[in-house]
Amino acid sequence: MTHNSGIGGSPEFDLIARHFMRPAANAVLGVGDDCALVDVTNGMDLAVSTDTMVSGTHFFPDVDPENLGHKALAVNLSDIAAMGAMPYWAMLALTLPSVDHAWLAAFAKGFFDLAQEYNVSLVGGDTTRGPLTLTVTIMGEVPAGAALRRNGAKVGNDVWVSGNIGDAALAVAHRHGKLVLTESDYHEAVMRLYEPTPRVALGQALRGLATAAIDVSDGVLADLGHICRLSGVGATVELDKMPVSAIGAKHFASEAGRNAIISGGDDYELCFTAPPNSRESIEDLVDMLGIPLTRIGQVKRGKGVSLLGIDGKAVKIDGRGYDHFTDA
Ligand code: ADP
Ligand code: MG
Repeated sequence: MTHNSGIGGSPEFDLIARHFMRPAANAVLGVGDDCALVDVTNGMDLAVSTDTMVSGTHFFPDVDPENLGHKALAVNLSDIAAMGAMPYWAMLALTLPSVDHAWLAAFAKGFFDLAQEYNVSLVGGDTTRGPLTLTVTIMGEVPAGAALRRNGAKVGNDVWVSGNIGDAALAVAHRHGKLVLTESDYHEAVMRLYEPTPRVALGQALRGLATAAIDVSDGVLADLGHICRLSGVGATVELDKMPVSAIGAKHFASEAGRNAIISGGDDYELCFTAPPNSRESIEDLVDMLGIPLTRIGQVKRGKGVSLLGIDGKAVKIDGRGYDHFTDA
């Protein structure tokens, strides 16, 4: 665009300069040129990931823009965490229906507050007009060969999950009228949906301990299923081992609640596999990092994930995690 208004020479560049140009501490060259330049450390692999969030699909259109700025970056940091990598650089592609500076300022605040917490620099992006869509690309580093992949699970490994599972999905189920949370429970659960905590330090601590890892974005069973498929193994998960919050505990007995907790997504916890001789080292991380880590199952020969009830019998769960191209 070449309109001669705004300090940057065009409204588009003005918007970028006003909201998204910040000193990029980690980069050789940040926002403003045709490319950003970053200096990659010798002996490290560059870890790169992109996640897009579409209004109405990934977030309710009435979401607080500050929460959205946090989440757009958090879901990408979560992918970096799941690889055991260290995040450094982000790119932000914004598609906006109109220019609303108050909205952009709040979005930028949510984004940069989290970026600062993890020493991530926004080094570039793109800005276009259209239906509200946010794409963040994140880049980081991991020692060559040490990344936590999805394909390393071995028969006999334990299956672990961090934090607790299901609050975000309970908030969504409440919004969709599938169950009812009290006002204060909804308020708490919806913050897990809007402001997930990426487990970056945990991912790095699991290098050399975990055999495979994934972040829980589509539901714990679905995401563990990805590990199993890529590793050529199966797994069992024990329903009563699933770590839930106090809110989750209130709804675990109802079918709608349990389905949401097990099949719902958006937790952004890490699900990982590790041999039994890593148990002690993994348990040490609980105090070191202040994150609960729970063994929920076992890697088995075969295919797929089966969920076991207290009686050891298979439990059927509705819904198989979110898939954008599966019709409801
Ligand atoms: P180009 O015409 O080369 O695509 P743009 O005019 O789109 O360049 O962008 C100008 C500069 O601003 C580039 O350095 C680009 O990376 C950066 N940029 C554009 N949009 C954003 C954004 N939403 N956040 C951060 N940087 C952005
Ligand atoms: Mg551009």
